[in-house]
Amino acid sequence: MVNLGFDHSYEQMPERFFSRLAPTSVSDPRLLLWNDPLARELGLGDAVGDETELALLFSGNRLSMDAKPIAMVYAGHQFGQFVPCLGDGRAILLGELIDQNGRRRDLQLKGSGRTPYSRRGDGRAWLGPVLREYLISEAMHALGIPTTRALAVVTTGEPVFREEGAMPGAILTRVASSHIRIGTFEYFARTQDLDGLRRLADHVLMRHYPDLLEADEPYLALLQAITANQARLIAQWLGVGFIHGVMNTDNMAISGETIDYGPCAFMDEYHPSTVFSFIDQGGRYAFGNQPRIAAWNLARLAEALLPMMDDDPRRSLVKGQEVIAGFQQLFEDAWLSRMTAKLGLASVREGDAGLIGELLNIMEVGRADYTLTFRGLADLATDANAAVLVARRFTKPAPFLAWVERWRTRLMVEGRSGAEVYQGMRRVNPALIPRNHRVEEALVAAVQEGDLAPFLRLHRRLADPFSDHPESTALANLPAMHERIEHTFCGT
Ligand code: AMP
Ligand code: MG
Repeated sequence: MVNLGFDHSYEQMPERFFSRLAPTSVSDPRLLLWNDPLARELGLGDAVGDETELALLFSGNRLSMDAKPIAMVYAGHQFGQFVPCLGDGRAILLGELIDQNGRRRDLQLKGSGRTPYSRRGDGRAWLGPVLREYLISEAMHALGIPTTRALAVVTTGEPVFREEGAMPGAILTRVASSHIRIGTFEYFARTQDLDGLRRLADHVLMRHYPDLLEADEPYLALLQAITANQARLIAQWLGVGFIHGVMNTDNMAISGETIDYGPCAFMDEYHPSTVFSFIDQGGRYAFGNQPRIAAWNLARLAEALLPMMDDDPRRSLVKGQEVIAGFQQLFEDAWLSRMTAKLGLASVREGDAGLIGELLNIMEVGRADYTLTFRGLADLATDANAAVLVARRFTKPAPFLAWVERWRTRLMVEGRSGAEVYQGMRRVNPALIPRNHRVEEALVAAVQEGDLAPFLRLHRRLADPFSDHPESTALANLPAMHERIEHTFCGT
């Protein structure tokens, strides 16, 4: 019998926090992907077993002796509408592992069968979206952005019926520092379950923000800390052109990790109103809207925490509002420091926000690629002639070339060498992001032709996004007209 070494803290919470149930067995589990470096980090070395054993364990057909499987309950605002009871409709938390760095990590199977929270859903996932989450969450990690991770993909041997037809079923093993969402707080706030709220908040403080346990007002401090974390996270998304796609409050983790990769996408040409998600017809979760939406979601968290923040409801409200009002500044500071770094500036000075804004405007009007423009700028730090090459990315090169002069003047203020600036810029401006057309191509080959090679190639390259790989420029380049992807699907 296998023992993965699980610990359990969430499972110790009161029974109304979850439902106890085991994953539903599948007919023919086969291990498709195994994230070996992550497994080692989690202390799951060679001891776990061979591929057959892994397929059994990570499909849920066999449970580790020390697993205590639960489906977590939560609520959430979906596209602005409150849904009082969501919960893990197709996921099971097996337990927590203390990793090699002493960090507590959740191990969750996603696509593991129906639960009391499935509503009309089948509790399953199909291979396309599972591979997508594996690829993009691991790419985000390589880009240095806090995210849930992907440990394994197991195919189930069972079909899953979706609009696309009968698709191959799959189960993803997701690793997260926790699966607690803003929606988890909303669930207990909705029923005015103050005891539940306090236990949840205490659990989160202990688990994610232990330093705040000593604060004078720990729950206010908690709201502040989560707000600051989200501000930093969104700034990081914006730095690489990431569009989450479904920033519902049930898809925002209070740990500050990116969670729930559904119709997410990376932007090619810069435009703040870029939307890919098919279900986001109104553009609520467009690229440039993400900071505003994060603040809106945090306001829902603040509302849930209000009863604990002060005995006087009015004072509570004022405190909560102050924190939410502070989001904008926190975000702008985080964004500015990220964007100035992308321009090769070691410090933030007056006028830098304007300089960045001008470049973004020129990119928008000139329909320039976000990733390649910034990557190309690094070359300009050491090679004056490179400006002409980068300018070719713009439909109108002249405004860009004029901007480059202003940027050079600003760079001179810092007096660093060209080589130093170049090196610094290449560490923050990726050469490669998971471009939609390449992701799509890899998924189509894997799902329709059973050919995993393009997926593995892309995955391998995305693990090292800040280096140039001349042999795989096709992965880094823009899509040709006929390769352009206009929409991503929710992919459930
Ligand atoms: P999502 O849009 O993926 O964040 O999911 C929103 C809610 O729908 C969550 O409560 C999910 O657990 C649930 N859900 C999504 N897909 C399924 C499915 N195939 N079966 C059951 N529940 C699902
Ligand atoms: Mg979700």
